[in-house]
Amino acid sequence: MKVEDLSGQKGRDTGHKAIDGIIDHKLSASPQNYELWLNYQMQSVPGLNEEINTTIAENGEFSEHHSELLYDKYFNSSKLGTHVVQTGAKLAAELTAALQLLNRAGDTTDAFSESLDDAANELKNDSIDSNRLLSIVSSLSKATQEMSSQNSELSKRLEESSSEINELRTHLQTIRTEALTDSLTGVANRKQFDNMLRYRIQEARNLDYPLTLTICDIDFFKKFNDTWGHQTGDQVIRFVAATLERLALKDHLVARYGGEEFAIIMPRVNTHEAVPVLERMRRAIEVKKLKRKSTGDSLGNVTMSFGAAELTEEDSCSSLIRRADERLYVAKRNGRNQVSADLNTATRAA
Ligand code: GH3
Ligand code: MG
Ligand code: MG
Repeated sequence: MKVEDLSGQKGRDTGHKAIDGIIDHKLSASPQNYELWLNYQMQSVPGLNEEINTTIAENGEFSEHHSELLYDKYFNSSKLGTHVVQTGAKLAAELTAALQLLNRAGDTTDAFSESLDDAANELKNDSIDSNRLLSIVSSLSKATQEMSSQNSELSKRLEESSSEINELRTHLQTIRTEALTDSLTGVANRKQFDNMLRYRIQEARNLDYPLTLTICDIDFFKKFNDTWGHQTGDQVIRFVAATLERLALKDHLVARYGGEEFAIIMPRVNTHEAVPVLERMRRAIEVKKLKRKSTGDSLGNVTMSFGAAELTEEDSCSSLIRRADERLYVAKRNGRNQVSADLNTATRAA
């Protein structure tokens, strides 16, 4: 369905259905949710409908959080693209204006040196009279004035340009950071995770470094949510994110991978070295006595299971993720609150 199909009765019907989607799933009436469900109705974004349907089938619900994740994944990156294009266009306009000024100043400089040349030649002439001398002096003075006013206009304009360019750069950095950050926890989002994993795999291959990927997931979190409510659940997700980030090594990236699932990209670390780091994280979460912020009520503890796999020569991004996920499944099956690591590194380049 194309954009023009939104006109007329058919378009209004599509809009109504999008709103029905928002109501059915008890979502807030935000522009982002409308955009998501409108595109769902229009079936206009490849992969979006399948992912929404799978999320509903797997979770029995489609929460605000699912909505945020899918919005980030399908729309925020294109939004970043639009911002980049717009900012780039502004930047180009600024630079063109500055260059035009420089060229004009160049013309004036050329004219000024021509005036000087002419004056020097005429002054060499013995028969020059006082009137002519006067006229040379006044034309030189005019050229000098023009030159200096052009120069001060130029330096003022260049100063404006450079502060404008700095502002645009800051703006671009802000939107870039927002587009790569999970809004609930402040850690990296799925998009940043995807970019970083690709980068780290390449780096590990080029420099023959080890690379470990960990996927971890809060245990029995559905029960926690059902007992204490979604908002309190969100607080716990924030606590877990902060703990993982606090204990992660330098250069390691903690990302929110899904609802209550995180991924840790661990460059220059094999699984043997990763395990003690993950154990510290597991323990810090396990021992924390959780309290409801608003009332101080005790909420007990949560635990977390970890699955870690090390990059092999044959791995792609998705096979590495799959192997880390398999280890997570092993940790869950063996009783949760534990680290399971793929310790067989024989296949890695020696
Ligand atoms: P397991 O130990 O096997 O992981 O059990 P579980 O209950 O944690 O696993 P499951 O995947 O069945 O449930 C995950 C639950 O996490 C579903 C949902 O209630 C909750 N959840 C997912 N995302 C969020 C979120 O953003 N906020 C809150 N509060 N809860 C979430
Ligand atoms: Mg879980
Ligand atoms: Mg889960």
